[in-house]
Amino acid sequence: MPELPEVETVRRGLLPTMEGQVIAKTDVNRPDLRWAFPPRMAERLSNVRVNALRRRSKYLLADLSSGETLLMHLGMSGRILISGDPLGQFHHDHPAPEKHDHVVFHMASGARVTFNDPRRFGAMDLIPTDCLDQHKLLAELGPEPLGNAFDAAYLADRLKARKTPVKSALLDQKLVAGLGNIYVCEALYRAGIAPTRRSDRIARYRAEALVSHIRDVLSEAIEAGGSSLRDYRTTDGELGYFQHNFAVYDREDAPCQTPDCPGHIRRVVQSGRSSFYCPTCQR
Ligand SMILES: [Zn+2]
Repeated sequence: MPELPEVETVRRGLLPTMEGQVIAKTDVNRPDLRWAFPPRMAERLSNVRVNALRRRSKYLLADLSSGETLLMHLGMSGRILISGDPLGQFHHDHPAPEKHDHVVFHMASGARVTFNDPRRFGAMDLIPTDCLDQHKLLAELGPEPLGNAFDAAYLADRLKARKTPVKSALLDQKLVAGLGNIYVCEALYRAGIAPTRRSDRIARYRAEALVSHIRDVLSEAIEAGGSSLRDYRTTDGELGYFQHNFAVYDREDAPCQTPDCPGHIRRVVQSGRSSFYCPTCQR
């Protein structure tokens, strides 16, 4: 499942093709993904300029010249492919249409942006741009983890008020938006905090330090995604998926990477999700 850095990488990859560019025509090949598409979506996505392409949490937001914003979510298996782009750095010919190409944007430039999603957990919606903050998917979201509102005092105060394990608190999208399982595991490892530790029992200085670890793991992953975009010529035009090196995630029983730590990575299940951590250096 794409996490925040993957979505940000997709956004950056789409910028040259979509931002400031006109969508001449959109093909909508089915009535729904996870939810029904809005009425007349193909028509409302034709002959409009994309004024800005933004991200909020794991949602891509395209502000359109029509006064509406297109919200896109990749779900579990959504992929975006660019082809025929005369403006981008590398050229990919239009591929043959595939079965799961559900929405295809034909840019006035000649480029094509294809949204392919075999499992159909993705979503799209059209919302008046000036009502965006009240949309059901966005209204309850907490601050962006890379934004200024997510700072040491904020996180320390919020954790102090919770009795749930810190892992669950950080996955709560009302506390911070867009953090997923992988990056929570990695940030807690760097902070030396066990995922099972009760939020209100974390010393304040440790809760405060956790903010910079969260920012670092996300920023480094976005940087890795940027590198994958620069390798774009070797791929087929698909955006957003790249190789990571994780310290704890999916490394059960492997030796801990902390210098001189004799521990091995343990996996525990919390709220149905696997947590990976070193029981020796995470307390
Ligand atoms: Zn360790």
